[in-house]
Amino acid sequence: MTAPGSTVDRRHFFKTAAAVALPLWGSSRLLAAQQSAVASGRLTGSLVVLNVGGSNVLCSSADAQGLVLVDSGAAVPASQLRAALQGVRQDAKVQTVFNTHYHAEQTGNNETLAAAGARIIAHEHTRQWMCTDYWVPAANRYEKARPKAAWPTDTFRVTGSLETGTERIDYGHLPLAHTDGDIYVFFRDSNCSRLVMSPRRFVTRCSTTSPARGSVVASMRWTRS
Ligand SMILES: [Zn+2]
Repeated sequence: MTAPGSTVDRRHFFKTAAAVALPLWGSSRLLAAQQSAVASGRLTGSLVVLNVGGSNVLCSSADAQGLVLVDSGAAVPASQLRAALQGVRQDAKVQTVFNTHYHAEQTGNNETLAAAGARIIAHEHTRQWMCTDYWVPAANRYEKARPKAAWPTDTFRVTGSLETGTERIDYGHLPLAHTDGDIYVFFRDSNCSRLVMSPRRFVTRCSTTSPARGSVVASMRWTRS
């Protein structure tokens, strides 16, 4: 596994992503192998995918004011999170975090990042799930509400847009997706998006579009929820 924050050879990264795209649908063993193979990688000059606690986190360094993250990853010690971020920016400062939905793999480090001053953006339904105890039928138990320190600080219902440094970021609700609060986050100036889709098994992916080659998948990671 590549250490968090480091980059992988770009050619290998593209090759790995292409090799695991569609054939892996439905195979948990291969999913696990692919997860360790693509631990982190640089997509563009300002976008990096980090492995945080086994979950991928998209990290933008387009703004000198601080990093922008898409998802905060599965919960890890603050020192481990900082080490991952320092691979991109020495002071590890994060200004904004998007949560693509409410599950722990996407929101596990919200508390740490919010305490350090980050704004956390999510769909209104994501915040509602995180604020409330809820019943999990498959596990026959209640899931406790998350601590207030982890709750999104900014919510929206349909779409939004953000200017950060050299990057314009558009985001919006994905109805009928993995949860009722899934969102996409589109880095317009990098032609890179992160989104969650599929009703039963969700997919998190970053893709870039090359004018010369059409739509090119630069990084794709398949994860069970
Ligand atoms: Zn999930």
